[in-house]
Amino acid sequence: NPTVAIVGRPNVGKSTIFNRLVGDRISIVEDTPGVTRDRIYSSAEWLGRHFNLIDTGGIDLSDQPFSVQITEQAEIAIDEADVIVFLASAVEGVTDEDEQVAKILYRADKPVLLAVNKADNPEQRQQIYDFYTLGFGDPYPISGAHGTGLGDLLDAVVKEFPTDAANDEDDSIRFSLIGRPNVGKSSIVNALLGEDRVIVSDVSGTTRDAVNTKFTDPDGDEFTMVDTAGLRKRGKVYENTERYSVMRAMSAIDKSDVVLVVLNAEEGIREQDKHVAGYAHEAGRAIIIVVNKWDTLTKDDYTMANFEAEIRDQFQYLDYAPIVYVSAKTHQRLDKLPALIKQVNENHRKRIKSSTLNDVITDAIATTPTPTQNGRRLRVYYVTQVAIQPPTFVFFVNDPELMHFSYQRFLENQIRKAFDFTGTPIHLIPRQRK
Ligand code: GDP
Repeated sequence: NPTVAIVGRPNVGKSTIFNRLVGDRISIVEDTPGVTRDRIYSSAEWLGRHFNLIDTGGIDLSDQPFSVQITEQAEIAIDEADVIVFLASAVEGVTDEDEQVAKILYRADKPVLLAVNKADNPEQRQQIYDFYTLGFGDPYPISGAHGTGLGDLLDAVVKEFPTDAANDEDDSIRFSLIGRPNVGKSSIVNALLGEDRVIVSDVSGTTRDAVNTKFTDPDGDEFTMVDTAGLRKRGKVYENTERYSVMRAMSAIDKSDVVLVVLNAEEGIREQDKHVAGYAHEAGRAIIIVVNKWDTLTKDDYTMANFEAEIRDQFQYLDYAPIVYVSAKTHQRLDKLPALIKQVNENHRKRIKSSTLNDVITDAIATTPTPTQNGRRLRVYYVTQVAIQPPTFVFFVNDPELMHFSYQRFLENQIRKAFDFTGTPIHLIPRQRK
């Protein structure tokens, strides 16, 4: 999806506008810690076009001087967005700080739309003519307080979205590596690509896809590693903030089919590991858990089993994800990754014939009867797969309320027993038969 960033000096109303524009994130799993609270990177929709929205003001740089904050936020927008909304305020008029932001945005090689917030009444809308001096063409008067003007602004934003033609023709497997700083993501990338071929194929340019790296495995299958540029350390202030790295990971996840969640064996599992893994799960991506730095542990017969138990306990919702123990340093088991990526990608796109599926469910119900509530029994009439990536199954039933969580879980397990869905979440949706 295209990414839109809102930039502007403090107090122009970035967060108000951001909150006005974002819809509910799709498929939020309530008990995944951390993710839902993170509002700096959200999804929105206009005229049927879905896009991601970044509130650069939400990235905490408060320990930095004002001018650094402004600069860093504008640079985030330039790095991350396809379209930039530059926000100013009709109440204060054009300020020095607006000009500072404008100066940085001149360098952006992407569309910038100037919106003037707090244009709540006709008198304030008169003020917007001053804003032509910023040099971004017609300003869009909007009011975060009243919600006016947003439609016109969004029409203009959507018109600027890049076309995805290049992407659609590409049938390589798109995957990304996500994880905390220093778990070894770049080292794994380098090892996978061969030491001296590091990130040579990406050219930093105007399109999002310029940060991807393509390679072929020994079988000749094509892979696209998403957002390899994000793994490079450029040492800018904002790149060291946790929220920025979370945002970066979310953006990479959105563009991937398969996500490698990288953990560090030496340090064990941390809270931040769960945030990004939770987002990948919510987004319905295929997932592989990669435990890196396996060389650093003194191992006995139980080390691997113990580590696995810890992962299964901490990431209960990822029970479908395979785990690989690797070392980017010694290259141990790295050669397993391409085949595993292919396998989970296949499972993620797997389609099951309705007849086969219904046989499995009928057998399951025969051995474990459906639950009852107030004397009414759940009846499952028919099951069909309606989507892939992730595989999604609709259960036509007499009353969806009767589908208890535990029974749904049981049915999911039966499907998983009958078909290989390793590495992919599967969704079960009970629907009332009309
Ligand atoms: P990133 O921030 O996740 O991209 O992490 P890096 O790839 O930059 O690695 C962070 C540090 O961990 C570097 O000093 C690496 O040399 C080291 N490192 C990475 N992978 C391994 C590994 O498998 N074993 C050991 N011992 N060190 C590693």
